[in-house]
Amino acid sequence: LRILTGQGLNTGAEMPSDPVLIARNIGPAELLDYGRSLKGIVLEEGSVGSHAAIVARALAIPLVVHATRITTEALNGDHIMVDGDQGVTHLRPDDSVVAAFRDKIAMQADAQERYASIRDKPAETRDAQTINLHMNAGLMADLPSLDGSGADGVGLFRTELQFLVRNQMPRRSELSALYARVLDAAQGKRVVFRTLDIGSDKVLPYMKPNDEPNPALGWRAVRLSIDRPGLLRVQLRALLKAAAGRTLRIKLPMITMVSEVDEVRAMLDREIATQTRFGHELPKEILLGSMIEVPTLLFQLDELMQRVDFISVGTNDLFQFMSASDRGNSFLANRYNPLSRPFLRALREIVRAAERNDKPLYLCGEMASEPLSALAVMAVGYRAISMPPGSLGPVKEMVRSVNLTEISTMMNDALDEVNPAQTILEMMMDYTDQRGVPV
Ligand code: PEP
Ligand code: MG
Repeated sequence: LRILTGQGLNTGAEMPSDPVLIARNIGPAELLDYGRSLKGIVLEEGSVGSHAAIVARALAIPLVVHATRITTEALNGDHIMVDGDQGVTHLRPDDSVVAAFRDKIAMQADAQERYASIRDKPAETRDAQTINLHMNAGLMADLPSLDGSGADGVGLFRTELQFLVRNQMPRRSELSALYARVLDAAQGKRVVFRTLDIGSDKVLPYMKPNDEPNPALGWRAVRLSIDRPGLLRVQLRALLKAAAGRTLRIKLPMITMVSEVDEVRAMLDREIATQTRFGHELPKEILLGSMIEVPTLLFQLDELMQRVDFISVGTNDLFQFMSASDRGNSFLANRYNPLSRPFLRALREIVRAAERNDKPLYLCGEMASEPLSALAVMAVGYRAISMPPGSLGPVKEMVRSVNLTEISTMMNDALDEVNPAQTILEMMMDYTDQRGVPV
């Protein structure tokens, strides 16, 4: 590990070419330390919804979780093939497996060509409905992909990743330079900065960890920002400065009670007043939005919508909290499915409330990253979704091949059924098979 992070120059050991990291588990900060030097990651534990998996996706490193006994069976220097799409690894593969892998890589290259050929075409369904496709980012390394990706903007910039990659707290001037670079790279496209979402599994290396029994349900995200406002103040100032003369969009993570939005808005207003007093140029427009990740908000939808300029649904946490199942827990990874009536009904309620209140509605979170689950959220009414850059091609291909009115009607009927003959997943698989929708 010291070799990988560049700290082990005198250990005498050599870094293999194309290294694959095998471990029991890994956190997002550690993974960011290794950076792009890794060609693959295989974990005995972990889960696809964890923040480490999100960081791996941002860095485009294939990751496989739940590889039982891999830390005992794999030896240093072994060959291993990591198939992140299928979630399988081949340890010491024989020639036939290697050949099959080569074929698969060639097929993927074909798919990439197809995605490139639709990159500049609209994300429009067969029945002429436009879907806004945004990308999730958080590392500067993501941003070059914005231009070539065909994304309509950055729907989620996870600002905490910049804090996780450092070994000390970034200064305000560094932050504002960074945020300005993000806005420059977007060239006027929509960018939504999410304020710091630290805590839970995103522990800053230079902050004393809290000894909390349930960190995911703990003192994190906006809760920490409100109780220790110094950090959020620095971030808000940096954002206001970076966006001078442009549009600034900020969203708040883990809002639980609508009064928390009021508290942050008051802080933001104070920072705006300070900037004005000092004669600094302000953004030409400032939009404040809220994530919906905590189920209490499902019962404060109208109050919430009246307080914010836009809404962004974070399906990762919303699903984790609605189903009371830790998104990083490998024992629960396959037990509950977001493509199920309770969860999709909740997502539909949010759409209805946004329509009632005439509020722009977005969805980020990994549900938008797979064509099938992206189709499900479109079918309950979402028209703007944000995903990792690598998902834009497959999702756009799906969008362009679907008749959204047709699947939306089926979805609505299916969600209203009390004694259904089919699960939502079965209904969708039948539909996409019959219609030849690539999912
Ligand atoms: C989410 O919870 O869906 C989300 C987008 O935030 P994160 O994955 O960073 O927790
Ligand atoms: Mg979240």
